[in-house]
Amino acid sequence: MLVIGRRWIRGCCAALLLAALAHGQAEPLTVVPAPGGLLGRQAEVLVEPGAPLRLDEAQAAWQRGEFSPGRRAVLAEGLGSRPIWQRLTLYNPTWGHVELHLVAGMTWIDRVDVYLTRESGPMTQWQGGDELVGAPFAQPGLGMVFPLVVPPGHSELWVRTETPDPMLVPLRLLDDNGLRQLERLQHYGYGLLYGFLLALMAYNAVLFVGVRIGTYLRYSVYLLSFIFVNQAYTGHGLVWLWPDWPALQRYVILSAMVLFGVAGLAFSTSFLEIPREAPRVGRALAGLQLLGVVGMATCAMLDAHEPAVWLGFGFVALAATLIVLLGLWSWRRRQPAAGYFLAAALCGMGGTLSTTLSTWGGLPWSETTFHAIDVGLMVEATLLALALGARMRVQEQARERAEELARTDPLTGLLNRRAFRELASSAHAAAERRDRPLSLLLLDLDHFKAINDTHGHAAGDAALRAVGALLRSTARVSDLCARWGGEEFLLLLPETDHAEARAFAERLRQAVWDIVLTHDGRPIGMTASLGVAQRQPQQSLDALIAAADAALYAAKEAGRNRVECEVIDRAGTASSGSAA
Ligand code: GH3
Ligand code: MG
Ligand code: MG
Repeated sequence: MLVIGRRWIRGCCAALLLAALAHGQAEPLTVVPAPGGLLGRQAEVLVEPGAPLRLDEAQAAWQRGEFSPGRRAVLAEGLGSRPIWQRLTLYNPTWGHVELHLVAGMTWIDRVDVYLTRESGPMTQWQGGDELVGAPFAQPGLGMVFPLVVPPGHSELWVRTETPDPMLVPLRLLDDNGLRQLERLQHYGYGLLYGFLLALMAYNAVLFVGVRIGTYLRYSVYLLSFIFVNQAYTGHGLVWLWPDWPALQRYVILSAMVLFGVAGLAFSTSFLEIPREAPRVGRALAGLQLLGVVGMATCAMLDAHEPAVWLGFGFVALAATLIVLLGLWSWRRRQPAAGYFLAAALCGMGGTLSTTLSTWGGLPWSETTFHAIDVGLMVEATLLALALGARMRVQEQARERAEELARTDPLTGLLNRRAFRELASSAHAAAERRDRPLSLLLLDLDHFKAINDTHGHAAGDAALRAVGALLRSTARVSDLCARWGGEEFLLLLPETDHAEARAFAERLRQAVWDIVLTHDGRPIGMTASLGVAQRQPQQSLDALIAAADAALYAAKEAGRNRVECEVIDRAGTASSGSAA
């Protein structure tokens, strides 16, 4: 009696309110509650205490006052919740039936039973949920969408949901327009998200094929795994790909979550070079990934749904946390591009956390908190692409530096023997082809061993550096200067004939003599002997070097601190002759 009285008063109030609203509004409301908003607070809620309740039992429970008012705009009870009833009073003030859409819950809810009852007249009933073959009423990105025909006057909407997955049941009434708008938003949103991620994925896969660096492939797989997990939990996969496989649907979201975590960890460890930087951590992470995969496979094989739910959610949360920690560790060790990586990981984790918590009930559910992972992942993907680019730049610089080091003598900065040979061969061949003059100088410091013995090895090194600097500053840009041996230097002079080379050698000899070096306050005197040779027709580079060496030997023999040239006699054979 009391209940009926309350309902009567409520009905009167609603009618009065409607009358007032209709008076001031061009378009009268069709139904109370008005279509559009989230209805969790308008609903009354009952957590099923024991065995599954039938509708009449739920109605009896409501009569007994066992339902309580909804506390939040969206009912979110987290993992492993008991089945839940939500009850809504509808009021249609018009004389005709009003067609509406009820959006109830997410596509992963196992069972969604909807009943529309009225005091007199037939009851309508719908059954949805991803445990049913054909995934009836599931709409990707939206949830379960039921077509309601609301009769005139009062009616009651009963929604029973059951799932061990997150019990997240947004309730919403939409008219055709509202549903179309929401669908359009979802289509554009997912189009943007998938388009962006697929393009990035394809680009990195192609990059991998081109440069064969595994990190690009792992990044590509990571992006693919996110697309997959997103397709799975938004219901796109359920509706498009496996509507007739409820058993697959039961584990596919959870497996996709584990694979997403595994792919994220695999990419991160490879990008941050963890196996090399911290082998034990690398092995532990590899073990963890294997554990996740094996654990989920075992759950699926044993059909242990609840442990699988905890494993899926736990694994994703753990992986996101570990990825951030790895980023932090690498950033503190100043690894290349670790800053970008850390920022990316934080964005990804922020999004993942927001979505997970809103699904779990820790954060109020809204389109923003629920879709945070999509935005987070897009920002993360952009930052990771930058990170990969930055790292490629660092690697390129390192490679260039290594190449440079492989070509130069570390003490003097001149070319080393190998680089000299490479460059000199082409210069020699060019001179031969065009029949141009080309000369070669070989310079050897005199009694250098004595400098080492008297002043020490460090002073000897300083002397060698000084001679290197002298050669670099005196030679032309087109000349090749190399450290040929311990205290022996070689200069290849293109477009330089015998006389010019001899004059240059003489200038060098004088310049070495003029070098002012002191060690511990004592002056270090230095002289050099030089051998000069000019390229002869048909003469190989080695023969030219041998000729200069012979001239140098002659200079040493003749008493050092002098220049000797190979002399060409009339028959074209060379021998050494003094420059003096
Ligand atoms: P000569 O006038 O006949 O050329 O006599 P030398 O003492 O200059 O020639 P020798 O070949 O007998 O000795 C060369 C010395 O150069 C021996 C070696 O210890 C020294 N040497 C070679 N490379 C380096 C180096 O990188 N640094 C220093 N400090 N000494 C070096
Ligand atoms: Mg010497
Ligand atoms: Mg020597």
